[in-house]
Amino acid sequence: MITSVDLANLIFPDISETISDLENKYPLRNLPLEAKVTRFAPSPTGFLHTGSLFTALIGYKLAKDSNGVFYFRLEDTDTKREVKGSDLELISQLATFNILPDEGMTLDGEKGDYGPYKQSERENIYKIVIKEMIKNNLAYPCFCSKEELDDLRKKQEEDNVVPGYYGIYAKCRNISPEEAYKRIKNGESYVIRFRSSGDHNKYIKVHDEIRGDLELSENDQDIVILKSDNLPTYHFAHVVDDHFMRTTLVTRGEEWLSSLPIHLELFDALHFKRVKYAHLPVIMKLDENGNKRKLSKRKDNEAAVSYFLKAGYPSEAFLTYLMSIANSNFEEYLIANKDKNYHDFKLSLKKMSLDGALFDIEKLKFFSKEYLAKLNKDDFTSLALAYAKEYDPKLLELINRDVNYFKSIINIERERVNPRKDYSCFGELYEGIKYFYHDEYLKLINESLIFNPNFSKELLINLLNEFKSLSFDKDEQTWFSALKEIAKKYNFCIDNKEYKLNPDKYLGNTANVAEILRIAVTSKSETPNLFAILNVIGEKEYLDRLNEVINILSK
Ligand code: GLU
Repeated sequence: MITSVDLANLIFPDISETISDLENKYPLRNLPLEAKVTRFAPSPTGFLHTGSLFTALIGYKLAKDSNGVFYFRLEDTDTKREVKGSDLELISQLATFNILPDEGMTLDGEKGDYGPYKQSERENIYKIVIKEMIKNNLAYPCFCSKEELDDLRKKQEEDNVVPGYYGIYAKCRNISPEEAYKRIKNGESYVIRFRSSGDHNKYIKVHDEIRGDLELSENDQDIVILKSDNLPTYHFAHVVDDHFMRTTLVTRGEEWLSSLPIHLELFDALHFKRVKYAHLPVIMKLDENGNKRKLSKRKDNEAAVSYFLKAGYPSEAFLTYLMSIANSNFEEYLIANKDKNYHDFKLSLKKMSLDGALFDIEKLKFFSKEYLAKLNKDDFTSLALAYAKEYDPKLLELINRDVNYFKSIINIERERVNPRKDYSCFGELYEGIKYFYHDEYLKLINESLIFNPNFSKELLINLLNEFKSLSFDKDEQTWFSALKEIAKKYNFCIDNKEYKLNPDKYLGNTANVAEILRIAVTSKSETPNLFAILNVIGEKEYLDRLNEVINILSK
């Protein structure tokens, strides 16, 4: 008589190891009780999604906060969806954010004793487990064709019953080992299914580290665990991997919550100790009509992390922003602890928001401005340089002309208690600073030079000629007093109270005169502190610029 053992030997003739061999090969980790072992387990299906970075950050942070282990596992068993090369891109983009796995796939290849960390290289491990499952009647080969499964689904729809491969609908679950043996010998193609003993009319208690205790319907589906291409499905592979890699906490997107009963049933059936699960909120955005929806890979630029890298948001600021989505008390923490950052903050799953975290670009800009403003000029410059090298050749060219000149530009009103918050990302830098460079400045004033139309060209030219005598090599006060003298001479009011009372007696006030000077030397009506700008460009350039503008006005 053919038994399930014979069947298992027929299907996996080369497998002689057992689950207990695997238990010995991958021993429990020698870590303190509170240390969490977490992982990031992406599929190589393209770019790093903002939601995936969020998931990676949470796993990383929980491991770091508890002196645990964070590892990277590549879930590449869905060969149809695989995008070649995206595995390395995922690893290197994570590295850009300084999320460096302790173990698993890293920039320097695989590290750690629990590998391989790429599912496609773990075939043998899955087969060992499945072989034992077949022997123990926990799994069986299923010969149903795609057409048969389609017909089944149609019939279930007509009968208004729960769709799927379960109970009486699971045609192959009752095939005898003998018949299965024959059909395999005859070369019929098959997949391997798990034999569920659940009942979807019953409930099981599950625990989610964010949501607490929940009741979900039991699984009763005989899910496929090994596909006809000999690769396992996610449901099965992650259970085996998280068990033998000795994960203690699975942090993954909430789209997996509904299949948790399948996963727990598999853990129980295999006598594996259940891992803990935390299902993280999906990142949403408000659509045109003000409704919340999931960030969409196809529709939303913000869905790809590369979008933010190209725009030049500093990675630390981006993670700070993601941390504020993760824990609502993080912002209060930052306000109360000015010199601390997200590395110091202790992330709590209990404080995770549940109703879909909303992506808010304005908030990201806020964190990013704060972060960039607090950098000293050298750190700012090295980040700007790294960005420019990768994404912004025009900016790179400006910086490379004279890095010290660049530093003096971006150091205006920096390195002090309330630094300026001009930039939310490095992508804004080129446009923001180009007027400091002579050739760029010339292009700007020749394209457009807009003074207040209330002032005649003659008046402007007279004022610009007067400005030539202003020296800015002493302090700002002295310079500004001299500017006021010029204002007074041309009947601009230098006393604001008086100007408010009698505006008609004057051509304007000191602010009008300062604006004329500002526009002339920078082409802009809004800039950082003008006195500081003049000191950066220096006297020769200052006089050149006044003459250029006088020339344009005189034409
Ligand atoms: N490969 C799965 C995904 O990319 C991972 C889910 C998990 O972390 O377990 O969604």
